[in-house]
Amino acid sequence: MTQKRVRVFSGARPTGKQHLGNYLGAILNYVEMQKDFDCIYSIVDIHALTTVETTLQLKENCLDMALDWLAAGVDPEQSIVFIQSHVPQVMELHTLLSMVVPMGKLTDLPTFKEKVRMHPQNVNYGLLGYPVLMSADILLYKAELVPVGIDQAPHLEFTREVVRSFNYQYNTQVLLEPQMKNTPVMKVLGTDGVNKMSKSLNNEIEIAADAPTTKKLVMSMVTDTNRKLRSDPGNPDICNVFSFHKMFSSQEEIGMIDVECRRAGIGCVDCKKTLATNINNAMAPFRERRHEWMKKPKQVWEILYNGADRARTIADVTMAEVRDAIGLPRYR
Ligand code: ADP
Repeated sequence: MTQKRVRVFSGARPTGKQHLGNYLGAILNYVEMQKDFDCIYSIVDIHALTTVETTLQLKENCLDMALDWLAAGVDPEQSIVFIQSHVPQVMELHTLLSMVVPMGKLTDLPTFKEKVRMHPQNVNYGLLGYPVLMSADILLYKAELVPVGIDQAPHLEFTREVVRSFNYQYNTQVLLEPQMKNTPVMKVLGTDGVNKMSKSLNNEIEIAADAPTTKKLVMSMVTDTNRKLRSDPGNPDICNVFSFHKMFSSQEEIGMIDVECRRAGIGCVDCKKTLATNINNAMAPFRERRHEWMKKPKQVWEILYNGADRARTIADVTMAEVRDAIGLPRYR
């Protein structure tokens, strides 16, 4: 008999084709966690609506994201992979949870304040309720563990508080307090060398990009800005290209660059050429798999529909328990 494994939930907004930051900071961890946990991975399209300007790209973005996940090794046989809105129960739970969440708690959250600063033209109710919907995502599936970096710990703490308030208010134990699965926060910088790699900053390298495009982007990367001439010694410690070498190059190459850059034995152009080759080599199998999946979008949608079916089965049980706990009249 197989032992019941701990259930993990994680969601990501459908931002379309994923970049190296997403890949190294999140997707590889998704793949890794499958070894030890029962994972539920959600493409949280409703969350995307809070700040989105147009929904024209939404379906395509969901598909692109699924393609990246599948090609990276997220296994739909093993994990539940689905689109958030395909399990509408999450919106029902969101409303029910909202009754135990004090308004002030939401308006005080630094993330809300930040979003208001970023989108002053569109401070909608959904933006305020975002953490409640996030709690519903986790609680609907009774996830025991949620992978978060230390910087996101307050979000999970919010969910835990919601559970305590709900269970206390309705004198129940139906909702499960999720634990934080502490994951190392990896911050991959973009091609500008200073900011976190992000689509909105236009400094990203998409993982699905072909080899020449990747090379072009790598060649545009900002290096140690103090190094003006080829003959100037560089400092790998403050060079983003070197950070990438540490992730994609062999120990031998890393050691060589560390020494040669400091004594101007290697120039930035050669250093970047090597990096481009190594990134392209490392991503080649991924790109090949993605290409194969791309040829069968129907099958990918089918995977997402099946994932939603599996997720809905869990959601139905939770919602029946939640409704009973609150004391809502049953319906046929
Ligand atoms: P979301 O709004 O869903 O967090 P993002 O695209 O910002 O969407 O991030 C998706 C995942 O990828 C998150 O887990 C985030 O931490 C990770 N991620 C995004 N950008 C980077 C980056 N530059 N370095 C490391 N991890 C990143």
